[in-house]
Amino acid sequence: MRRNDVSNSQCRLVPAPSGRAYRVSSPAANAMVTSELADELQRALERFAVEAGFDDRRRVSVFFKPGVFGHHQLGRAADIYAVGGVGIDQWKRRWDEACRRAAEAVDRPTRQIITKTEPVNNLGWRLYKALQGYGRWAQPYGYPIQLFGPWTRAEGPWKYISDRLLRAHYDHIHVAK
Ligand SMILES: [Zn+2]
Repeated sequence: MRRNDVSNSQCRLVPAPSGRAYRVSSPAANAMVTSELADELQRALERFAVEAGFDDRRRVSVFFKPGVFGHHQLGRAADIYAVGGVGIDQWKRRWDEACRRAAEAVDRPTRQIITKTEPVNNLGWRLYKALQGYGRWAQPYGYPIQLFGPWTRAEGPWKYISDRLLRAHYDHIHVAK
């Protein structure tokens, strides 16, 4: 890729847009993306936010940070680091803790409380599942679908994610289009 190609394509980039039920709380420069990715993000994020109970009077915040490698150089990827004001890494720790408590619960009602409430209340996990269910992400020939995050090994779409790649996404969700 020549320098010219990169700067030309970046001229057409737009900030990842806010929606009706969610708002992007990070600076615009943190997620400058192609219009295709902007549309895909907006569609999936809006659906996530509405299903999670947010609306135009109470929008959930989504925070991006800039990425460096691969699809990021062309504006075809975005990295989400926080949702609802809480870091993706914290949501994941909370998720793991709930799984541990459920596994250790001696009685069924206690276990059910945990396994039923955490998927509702954990916005990080919900966001990941919404992006997985509602987004149509890039799948370059010979590569897995470009959705990675701390839940990838457990939830897919690429359960064979390497330890290295999983570690690289312990604190954010990466999507590319
Ligand atoms: Zn990324």
